[in-house]
Amino acid sequence: MFECQKEMGRKKNSKHHVSVIPNNDNFENPDSNMSVDNKPVEESSNLYDSMVEIQDSLPFNDDKTSADYYFDSYSHFGIHEEMLKDVVRTKTYQNVIYQNRFLFKDKIVLDVGAGTGILSLFCAKAGAKHVYAVECSHMADMAKKIIEANGFSTVITVLKGKIEEIDLPVPQVDIIISEWMGYFLLYENMLNTVLYARDKWLVEDGIVLPDKASLHLTAIEDADYKEDKIEFWNNVYGFDMSCIRKQAMLEPLVDTVDQNQIVTNCQLLKIMDISKMTPGDASFTAPFKLVAERNDYIHALVAYFDVSFTKCHKLMGFSTGPRSRATHWKQTVLYLEDVLTICEGEEIVGSMTIAQNKKNPRDVDIMLKYFLSGRHCSVSRTQYYKMR
Ligand code: SAH
Repeated sequence: MFECQKEMGRKKNSKHHVSVIPNNDNFENPDSNMSVDNKPVEESSNLYDSMVEIQDSLPFNDDKTSADYYFDSYSHFGIHEEMLKDVVRTKTYQNVIYQNRFLFKDKIVLDVGAGTGILSLFCAKAGAKHVYAVECSHMADMAKKIIEANGFSTVITVLKGKIEEIDLPVPQVDIIISEWMGYFLLYENMLNTVLYARDKWLVEDGIVLPDKASLHLTAIEDADYKEDKIEFWNNVYGFDMSCIRKQAMLEPLVDTVDQNQIVTNCQLLKIMDISKMTPGDASFTAPFKLVAERNDYIHALVAYFDVSFTKCHKLMGFSTGPRSRATHWKQTVLYLEDVLTICEGEEIVGSMTIAQNKKNPRDVDIMLKYFLSGRHCSVSRTQYYKMR
């Protein structure tokens, strides 16, 4: 249970995706002791007793508390619902598998982090000989039921546990499939789990799906949002809360960016070959040059990733960039301390260093160096960020 804490919140942690905030329109008088429909709140113990009765009779009384979900958010179906409904993501995997049955026919597949078992089901349907679906959260119990309900239990074996700790019943697998990507590609560090599985079980000429991932950078105009999310802290109901502004600046914001906000070209920072790379390759420094395509202000740099499946008949994959159809990964916005005034053709040059945090390997530390010497603006600065 504790171990799974590391996987918590990869996709749910979306800073803009809090679905539990009540609609405040219903709460005109915050001090009143009224319920939403304006009837006084009952203080009777009968209500409590009947709640307990109802709870006891529920078929899914599984003893999990909100604390369990806090430490292991992948155990709750909500996060899987969000991923499954991300059509760009799930349809791409489905198309890759169904349109390339030759890859799967009679092959042994390992699904790293199976969740609901969706990728395992796709593989089984595409003709895999056997699929091992490994999942460390309690969702593994559901995956087992789902696989049974769909008649695939002879082809798919669900193993509940961490990849790093389970005993796989076979010495080798032909294919490793996984949807491991986190925000900013590397947040949550599940890539290491895939590399671990690859090095332990993948046959010599085996394949990893997807096998390429790339990180990209661009620059945007974002005055309104920077004002709302960052400068807001300078004056809150007349008080100076700028110490929080400093923290807000340190945390990249996961959000969707409108393509009209893009001011420069998009620069490729890094390509990772999942079939060959080592865990160390996920920490790197990459130079960039962003050339302005119009006169504008720049408030932030924006990072996003693409993944591809190069072993298919034809190249397949998807992009999480602002010019592509939105995914649940959105984009990652890094606000700049200075507002840059840039003219068409001028360049922001610099480098981005990305490293796993030493204390908590799920977190990503980012160092950004940038330099602009333009007609209206000269800046040279280093900024630090932390994805957590
Ligand atoms: N394959 C599913 C779920 C992807 S999310 C889908 O495509 O819908 C990633 C899943 O990997 C989560 O359910 C998480 O609990 C699981 N996971 C993360 N790290 C793991 C590890 N080390 N061992 C086993 N499962 C892991």
